[in-house]
Amino acid sequence: MKKYWMPVIMLVVFEAVGITLWLTKDNLFYLFNFSYIGCSIALGLFLLIRKHPQARRVVQLLVGLYMLVYLGLISGENMQIEGFWYYLFTGVFEAATIHYAVAKIFGPLLFGRGWCGYACWTAMVLDFLPYKIPSGPRKKIGWIRYLTFAASLAFVAILFLTHAANLERIMFWAFIAGNVLYYAVGIALAILWKDNRAFCKYICPVTVFMKPMSYFSLVRITCDKSKCVSCGKCLRVCPMNVDVLDNSRKRQNGTECILCMECVKICPKKAL
Ligand code: SF4
Ligand code: SF4
Ligand code: SF4
Repeated sequence: MKKYWMPVIMLVVFEAVGITLWLTKDNLFYLFNFSYIGCSIALGLFLLIRKHPQARRVVQLLVGLYMLVYLGLISGENMQIEGFWYYLFTGVFEAATIHYAVAKIFGPLLFGRGWCGYACWTAMVLDFLPYKIPSGPRKKIGWIRYLTFAASLAFVAILFLTHAANLERIMFWAFIAGNVLYYAVGIALAILWKDNRAFCKYICPVTVFMKPMSYFSLVRITCDKSKCVSCGKCLRVCPMNVDVLDNSRKRQNGTECILCMECVKICPKKAL
């Protein structure tokens, strides 16, 4: 039973967040929302422990589709980074601000870039592409993420500074346009560089929040050197080019680990 502690902890954490927000904001939706996400993640982790080959895909689809289709398209909440800036500027702790606080700013202190491996609706589509293992080393163009980060902030700031009318409507269409752009760029780069996660490595603005926070992540993959035979299989399958054999927090691409467990699955010595 000990091996199931992780799904239980994740469920408890999400229920605690849901109950707290339900009671403090007097809105039952938060209980439903975080219970659904917590159950989906706990189910995915349970399947992962049971070695189900599609465990990660199951939770990616359950959470990703819920956020994209239900929260974004049906409920009209901009859940992208522009939505986060929008609610921040209006001074309201709602929708995207809560989502960012839990999944992308404070959550990574506990579960690192787990969002990227198990819940992101952009990666949910990119992971269907055939280039799961990058065809070459990383390119030194990670600085692009800071430009897209600044552009998203500037976009919303300009809307507020110019007192644009129908802000809610603009944010809804910005969510649709933003997602179409993300998918188009993400798929094009994946095909061009034969790397499903090229968009995540170089373009995604959200990583500006997640990378520094996930440096301190409680949950991380480490290597038991006494078992490792240095076969290098784990390094070859990693979609994010993480030097998982180095246990230090400063390891190469350490803040890029999405906890996908591909390295753990392939290790012949169960050293990870
Ligand atoms: S890096 Fe960005 S696009 Fe990629 S999985 Fe994470 S949040 Fe999604
Ligand atoms: S393969 Fe291992 S080191 Fe690489 S991202 Fe997945 S869990 Fe992290
Ligand atoms: S796959 Fe396992 S044994 Fe091989 S290098 Fe990685 S940790 Fe070591």
